Amino acid sequence: MPQTSPVDLSEEERPFWPALRRGWRRRCPCCGSGPLLRGYLKVRESCPVCAEEFHHQRADDGPAYLTILIVGHLMAPLIMVVFTHWRPEPLTLAAVFSVGTVALSLYLLPRLKGVLVAIQWAKRMHGFGGPVVAGE
Ligand SMILES: [Zn+2]
Repeated sequence: MPQTSPVDLSEEERPFWPALRRGWRRRCPCCGSGPLLRGYLKVRESCPVCAEEFHHQRADDGPAYLTILIVGHLMAPLIMVVFTHWRPEPLTLAAVFSVGTVALSLYLLPRLKGVLVAIQWAKRMHGFGGPVVAGE
């Protein structure tokens, strides 16, 4: 009797870019409809729609690192350009860029966390690639 090995099924490739887009939208990388996060940054234990488990995720400091990397590389040249072209009042410059930096960071942080969890899911990292039962 031919058997399908669970190992063969677990090595099936998962869609990488769709998972990343779902993660960016803070949705389950598996089904795309269940919410990935509970509250602002807390990753759910599992998807309420498809029951995919998320507790394997190890995003750790990755989203914060990427947020600082992106925001820093956008805001540092931008503040230089604004300062050299328009020479605004220092208090105005500081106020505008402080608010802009905080707003951009708050926007990016949960989305990058979703992307990192989606990468881990798509690449079967940290236990996301557990054995798949035939028929699932
Ligand atoms: Zn799901």
